[in-house]
Amino acid sequence: MFALTHICLPVAAAVVMNVFARRQGYGDPFTPWTYALVGLFGILPDLLHPHLYLHERLDSWSHGIPAVVAVTLLGGVIMATQRHRVASVYALMCVLAYGAHVGGDMISGGIRPWYPWSPVVWGTNWVPPGQWITLDILTTLFTAALFYVARRPR
Ligand SMILES: [Zn+2]
Repeated sequence: MFALTHICLPVAAAVVMNVFARRQGYGDPFTPWTYALVGLFGILPDLLHPHLYLHERLDSWSHGIPAVVAVTLLGGVIMATQRHRVASVYALMCVLAYGAHVGGDMISGGIRPWYPWSPVVWGTNWVPPGQWITLDILTTLFTAALFYVARRPR
């Protein structure tokens, strides 16, 4: 998958979470900066190991289980040490965004979860490269529509 899909899907989830929080009386916990943070974690595996081709992604430590565990532990530490519940929500969303990226790459060519220690590839090609641009356009439009629909009522 390309960058926009990896960025937009977790941001769309954050928009939905923000709407639920607002309806529960918690205001709008997500700001433009925290949406950007969630989007950044959605693309972080590719930023940590930039690549153009599938074989380069397969040789990426940032798409492996140790990286996912490290990000999850970091998020867990933040969640456990923050007194403000909203910081825990941001940390959770960032961890989910990172994991969703790796999961998305698993269904669009695969990952090597234990690189460099094992050549085993996990994944399939449910979303072939020919559909990635279409998916980028659709997820971007979907996320923009969500922002429009979920805007604060006047
Ligand atoms: Zn990736």
